[in-house]
Amino acid sequence: MADEIEEGKDEEFEFNRDEGCGFGCELPVRYGLPCRHWMYASTVEKCQLPLSLFHPRWHLDGPSVLYDRWVMTWNPELDEEGGPTLASHYTDDWYAAHGLQRAEESALAVLEKLKNLPAGMAELFANTFIKGAESLLTQQDKIHASRERFPLMLPEPLAENSNLRYRKGEKRAMTGLKVAEERERDASRQR
Ligand SMILES: [Zn+2]
Repeated sequence: MADEIEEGKDEEFEFNRDEGCGFGCELPVRYGLPCRHWMYASTVEKCQLPLSLFHPRWHLDGPSVLYDRWVMTWNPELDEEGGPTLASHYTDDWYAAHGLQRAEESALAVLEKLKNLPAGMAELFANTFIKGAESLLTQQDKIHASRERFPLMLPEPLAENSNLRYRKGEKRAMTGLKVAEERERDASRQR
């Protein structure tokens, strides 16, 4: 496309990096991936496509789901912060911190609501909140205990414990039938 624009075969288009693609391209809208308009912008800038144009789900270490709205932006600084440390932006630590912040916000919203309720309603609201929190905590303890008992890992490989029996002078292991017959014979001898 860039060549065609330069050769005058294709029309130059208005593209504002702050506003993003206004052409309704499918790639940004459906997949969170930069479309040709972004690519053209990076060609003009002579720089690589900033990672900020790719939804974190496409990042190797990114989450499959984001709970916040994600907006495609032109932000090459994210790459510079980054290189390998971009990874740390999306690592467990970041998510733990982010989770803490969101839980705090949610708890504060509850407290704020509580302060503004008339006495009778406030008590009911507080009771409901406490009950909910207690059941959440109990449930989480259960999940945790079960993870401790059954960690999410593959079982140990089976011990290489060959049960094959060989008869003297034979290369092939005895078949189950032969083993059974032999046992039968031994047993009858002992009788
Ligand atoms: Zn586009």
